[in-house]
Amino acid sequence: MSENIFLNFIGGEWQKSVSGDVGKSYNPANKNEIVGIVQKSTKDDLDRAVEQAKSAQKAWRKLSGAERGNYLYRAAAILTDNLDEVAMTMTKEMGKSLPEAKGETNRGIEILKYYAGEGMRADGEVIPSTDASALMFSKRVPIGVVGVITPWNFPVAIPLWKMAPALIYGNTVVLKPATEGAVTAAKVIECLEKAGFPAGVINFVSGSGSVIGQGLAEHPDVNAVTFTGSNDVGKRIGTTVAERGGKYQLEMGGKNPIIIAEDADIEAAVEATLSGGLKSTGQKCTCSSRVIVQSTIYDQFKEQLIKKTSEITVGDGMDDSTWMGPCASEEQFNTVKHYIAKGQEEGAALVFGGKQLTEGKLKNGYYLEPAIFENVTTDMTIAQEEIFGPVLALMKVDTVEEAIELANDVDFGLSASIFTKNIDHILSFIDDMEAGLVRINSETAGVELQAPFGGMKASSSYSREQGQAAKEFFTTIKTVFIKG
Ligand code: NAP
Ligand code: MG
Repeated sequence: MSENIFLNFIGGEWQKSVSGDVGKSYNPANKNEIVGIVQKSTKDDLDRAVEQAKSAQKAWRKLSGAERGNYLYRAAAILTDNLDEVAMTMTKEMGKSLPEAKGETNRGIEILKYYAGEGMRADGEVIPSTDASALMFSKRVPIGVVGVITPWNFPVAIPLWKMAPALIYGNTVVLKPATEGAVTAAKVIECLEKAGFPAGVINFVSGSGSVIGQGLAEHPDVNAVTFTGSNDVGKRIGTTVAERGGKYQLEMGGKNPIIIAEDADIEAAVEATLSGGLKSTGQKCTCSSRVIVQSTIYDQFKEQLIKKTSEITVGDGMDDSTWMGPCASEEQFNTVKHYIAKGQEEGAALVFGGKQLTEGKLKNGYYLEPAIFENVTTDMTIAQEEIFGPVLALMKVDTVEEAIELANDVDFGLSASIFTKNIDHILSFIDDMEAGLVRINSETAGVELQAPFGGMKASSSYSREQGQAAKEFFTTIKTVFIKG
């Protein structure tokens, strides 16, 4: 296979799409650089992948958990050997800085190991029967073929945190990665191929969301669909899968608040706001987007935040001198600019940044200065809609109660954080905050693979991923009654 052309992986073979059509993936730090070429697949390609996954599942589910686990351990070792190359591809394809990309690839390795171990853990319980001479127990069984639809912002970790549990519990998978992250995903699939999974257990089909993503949602032989991405797409996928009686899981957007109370360690709160809000160029679903600050410390906090933000270095992410990379694509860049203009139109004050950066090496990329708005009110678009870019909205409140109320005044409910030392405030934040992830004296972003992850309200379909929670989605329960 030519180095830069990536094929579909179907039934254990790398295949061109029957369409004969391909798409190019560009480097957002340099619009002229093609990172790779991927297949623009058709429904026929997808049908073959699903057929292969369906037929491979019969033997895959018969293996012991330990045997399946060995494949995942091998995959972890091979991904470790290829960490630098995978991370570099990620940086080039979607602009995340290299240290962050390496961190994410490492996370992928840890996820593979965690779920490899799952193959040796208990998967059921004995339930006392009313019949004293019978044995009754529950047992987890696979669902069948799982369709995996992923976004571009974590192009290694998200496919793996879905595929690893799907596989260990005896399912087979068809991955449709985001087009903007398809080259990086293909690199991960190359590692999985080398781990020697039986043909058809893992399939990879790149192509447009409306053809391959929607195709997975509609396919009668795809028993479950796990999706991470935007709300509009997620809702449509959920409806489509539900209509045909399939199982689905949707993890979607956020509009995450960070609350800074008057007793907060301001320096730590500023650090957390920058890291949670602007790392990955604000393109994490758990990014802090609304910064809700108590009025007594507002000016002090704002001054420090602007000072620290002005020190951020923006670049192509290829070395440690870059703190923040470009927006991941032209589309994302235009979306962020649209929201910055909207904020100004609706009367928020842009107190820092927000302009395109074009100096020197930056001229060929989708670079923006981080932006800070103040006088943001909850009815404004930039206080309600997910921007997915380096934009912070400062909001001033008098009390922590008011802050929590404001924090809840959005459709989303993914993650939230508070900086305070007051135990009453901490307890009411934990209790009253409508978010799937609540963090105290820590940034809003920060997910640990062994803990359940997912949102409330519009951020999720109420399912949870990662940790032991993944078992709920990727298995179903069989209740067994044995009478001697
Ligand atoms: P997106 O546009 O919704 O795309 C997600 C995936 O769905 C991609 O593979 C995409 O394919 C596919 N897709 C697009 N249109 C489709 C359709 N009509 N039917 C079926 N599939 C379709 O999201 P994104 O822009 O890649 O990612 C950013 C979003 O993901 C943000 O909203 C972010 O908050 C969310 N996110 C959530 C979490 C979480 O765990 N809660 C984590 C990370 C990201 P194409 O790329 O080919 O369009
Ligand atoms: Mg998209």
